Parts: sequence; C-alpha cells; structure tokens
Amino acid sequence: MADRYDLVVIGAGSGGVRAARIAATLGAKVAIIEEYRVGGTCVIRGCVPKKLLVYGARFSDLFEVAESFGWQVEASFDWPTLIANKDKEIDRLERAYGAGLDAAGVEVFRDRAEIVDLHTIRLVKDGRLLETETILVATGGHPRIPDIPGKELGITSNEAFHLKQLPRSILIEGGGYIAVEFATIFAGLGVATTIVYRGDCLLRGFDTDLQQTLEAGLQQHGVKLIYQTNVMALAEAGTDVAVTFSDGITAPYGAVMFATGRIPNVEGFGLREAGVEIGPLGEVVVDQYSRTNVPNIYAVGDVNGHKALTPIAIREGQAFAQTLYGDTLRTVDHSMVPTAVFSEPELGTVGLTELEAATHGDIDVYVARFRPMINTLSTRSERMLLKLITEADGGKILGCHIAGHGAAEMIQLVAIPMVMGATKGDFDRTVALHPSAAEELVTLKSPSYRYRDGKKV
Ligand code: NDP
Repeated sequence: MADRYDLVVIGAGSGGVRAARIAATLGAKVAIIEEYRVGGTCVIRGCVPKKLLVYGARFSDLFEVAESFGWQVEASFDWPTLIANKDKEIDRLERAYGAGLDAAGVEVFRDRAEIVDLHTIRLVKDGRLLETETILVATGGHPRIPDIPGKELGITSNEAFHLKQLPRSILIEGGGYIAVEFATIFAGLGVATTIVYRGDCLLRGFDTDLQQTLEAGLQQHGVKLIYQTNVMALAEAGTDVAVTFSDGITAPYGAVMFATGRIPNVEGFGLREAGVEIGPLGEVVVDQYSRTNVPNIYAVGDVNGHKALTPIAIREGQAFAQTLYGDTLRTVDHSMVPTAVFSEPELGTVGLTELEAATHGDIDVYVARFRPMINTLSTRSERMLLKLITEADGGKILGCHIAGHGAAEMIQLVAIPMVMGATKGDFDRTVALHPSAAEELVTLKSPSYRYRDGKKV
C-alpha cells in the first residue's frame, strides 16, 4: 500500500525546500525526495561555497595594500585548510536545512525519485511507492560539458570545490558568471589563470561599462583572456592536460575547467513519459504559477529555465506553495532582479543596461569612475564604476550598474527604491553618506551623456 501525500517535491534545493516547508506549514502532507544532499546547488556546490572561496582569494589583495597602512605581512596559503573549513560550514548548513524541513513536518526521503504515473512516485533505491495529489519538480540543473575528445579530463565547478591541491595553472572555458568568479578565485590564490571564451566580451548581456571594467580588472589580477576561441580537444600530457584550441594552437595547463553553462535536470525520472512539455533549452515549460502543461505537475527553480538564481527559485517555491495551499494566487515578478558577480572587481547590476534602455525612449546616463579610498595610500590603480541610467530629465531610474568593492551589497539596496519606482530626483534629495563609495549614487549632478531619439548626444 502506497503512502499518501498532498505534495511530493522532487529535489531538496532552494526552491524545493522552500515550497515543501511553506506547504507543510499551511497544512499539506508533504514529502521531499533528494538523491544527493539537502540544500541543492546553492548550498552544496554553488553560491555558498563559492563565496567562501572568494573571501579566501581576496586576502591576497588585502595583503598587497596592507603595507601602505603600516602592516608587514608574511602570508602563506593552505588550500586543504580552506576546503576543510568550507566543507564544515556546508555540513552545518545542510543540517540546518534538514532541521527546517523536520520542524515543518516534511518527510525527507534520501533516494532517487521516479514518476510512475501522474499520482505515483517510486523511491528507486527503497522501492516504496508514494501516492500524491501534486508533484513539484525542483531538480535544478547540471554543468554543460562540450562534447569534445578528452572532455573527461576537464572539471566543472562541481569538482573545483573538492580539488585535493591547487593546480599550477588553469584554463577556464566560458565567459559567464561561473567562469569569471572561478577565474577570480584561482588567480587570487596564485594559480596562473586563463579564460578562453567563444565571444569577444565577457558576461554577454551585461552593461558594456561593467564588461569593460571587469575585463580590465581581471587582467590587472593576472588573468589572461583569449577571445573568439573554443577548446577543441583535451589530451593527457604527463601531469598536465594538453589543450587544442580552435585556432590550431596546443598548450598544456595544470587543469581545465568547463564553465559553459548549465542544463536543467529533466531526464531519467519519468518527466517526459508523464507528458510534461520540455522547451528548446531543455527546460520544463511553466506558466506564471509554475504550472506545467500537466495539471498536477509544477516546476520551480533552475529546472524551469527562468533566471538561474537562488532567490528566484525561493520566490517561486514560496509562491507555488502559497497559491496551492494558502488563500491567494501568487506569482513572481521576474523583472528588476538584482544580481551580483563575485569577480574582481565585484559587479552588481539591476534594471536595464544602457543599450536596452536606449531602445525604450530618451534617457540620461550618469557615470562616475573613481579610485576607491582603500587604494589611495598604495600604488594600486583600480577604479570603481557607478552608473545610473534614468528616464530623460530626472525621470525614473531604469538601471544601476556598479563595479568595485561592495557592489553586491550596494546593488541590493539600490534595488529597493528602483522597485518602488524612484526617480533621479528622489536620489538627489537623499543626503550623501561621507566618506563612502555609495555616496556617488546621490551626488551625480549632470548626465555624462544622453540619448535622444535613439541617438547618443
Ligand atoms: P552562463 O550562462 O552565465 O555562461 C555560460 C558561458 O558559457 C557563456 O559565456 C557561453 O557563451 C558559454 N558557452 C555556452 N555553451 C558553450 C559551448 N558549447 N562552448 C563554449 N562556450 C559555451 O552560465 P554559467 O555556467 O556561468 O552559470 C550558470 C548560471 O548560474 C548563470 O547564468 C547564473 O544564472 C547562475 N549563477 C549565478 C551566480 C551569481 O549570482 N553570482 C554565480 C554563478 C552562477 P555565450 O555568452 O556566447 O553564450
């Protein structure tokens, strides 16, 4: 006899855990099935461990300026210590996630799920059947690995978190978030780091000023950039990996990492067989309520192909549970989502890029570039960038882009007035906080340039 549930959630990542907890709190009988570790990509092998490694890598910059503040620092670095401490913290967070599910009364099955029919899920290892009214697919995604000879010699971000030792050098393929964040980490820890990207500008789709500031910052941190080139083959070369590029050159690297995007996890658990529509990018197609074309199957988080960001998955999980088990229909607003790239320099962005905004109508663009105070006593020359894009003549703020120390924290706060519809006038009325980098946001006097009738003037 099968156990009966109102909701079975497949995947205990950010979206699945939030949905399960809220649904259970609202009175539903809920089971969640996870074959790996509770916490999902973000907690186990994504945002959280990544940021801990970013903190680790940033010490090299701090040591560099320390002398100009009177400190003498003799530093050495031990990768296994960082990894062991990071693992301890991830274990703690996993336990906290598990405790949260327990406290809400969610039953957790550490197994692989298989959809047998629209109302039955099989636990693959255990063999047990769970009957359910509703299925929520929250299975996340996995790294895309280009199909090239020797691809098994490369690693992805998954393995990067568990390297026994740092390689002498690393080649990272890709020009997205993961490529630039891991380049920052490896370069900061002293690894000779190269990014190879098929395009001609990192972080496609970001504001051009952020792209250019990032490019300069990475180069200042010793990261080599190879553009308009692909990796065609990998081969063993002693303890190195020999990389053949699309321009015909072959070169050895201590390690090769693919950061070439992520693919939604939709295969191997009966989703297609259940009749769920899969889109052209391999994503589960959903409406604004996270509903698939199959009435009792829903999908939240990275698997549905929306912005692959933890807070989006959490919002979608919450909205799903409140809609189904609460008393109001809830959707998630996918516009005006702030995001940060924990590169060097750090980037924060919200709203429209200059190019996007210029196609919407007349706009004003304010740009401030300056040397952050921490660098003023040293010879370091990196500059910060703060950029505001507004409707013409003091109208609404349409976009904000920041590069430099604290960009992530700043952009989270700027996003609040922007979501509220703040104008340039509202920013101007706000008293500056001195001395800070963020004060530039409220002291930008006249536009650096304008767009009128689609033309830059
Ligand atoms: P992205 O989509 O950001 O970048 C993928 C990169 O790989 C792009 O530069 C893309 O090139 C390139 N690429 C794709 N396919 C190939 C191929 N076959 N050969 C060569 N290059 C290829 O993905 P990531 O893996 O970096 O990150 C996945 C997602 O995770 C992000 O989109 C983001 O939503 C999320 N994330 C968020 C973070 C944060 O918030 N700080 C941190 C890390 C991840 P092209 O530009 O030409 O398409």
